[in-house]
Amino acid sequence: MIESIVEFFKNLPPKKCTDCGETIEEQHECYGNKCEKCLGLFDM
Ligand SMILES: [Zn+2]
Repeated sequence: MIESIVEFFKNLPPKKCTDCGETIEEQHECYGNKCEKCLGLFDM
C-alpha cells in the first residue's frame, strides 16, 4: 500500500545535529547527523 509508505515518512521525526541539536533540513540528510553549520566548521 503506497499510502502506508507516505504515512511512514510523515511520521519520521526531524533529524537533529549531533553537535548543536539543531534540526537538520531534509535536503542534507546525506551528510549524516550534523547540521550545515557544524559541517562547515568541520570543513574549515
Ligand atoms: Zn550543528
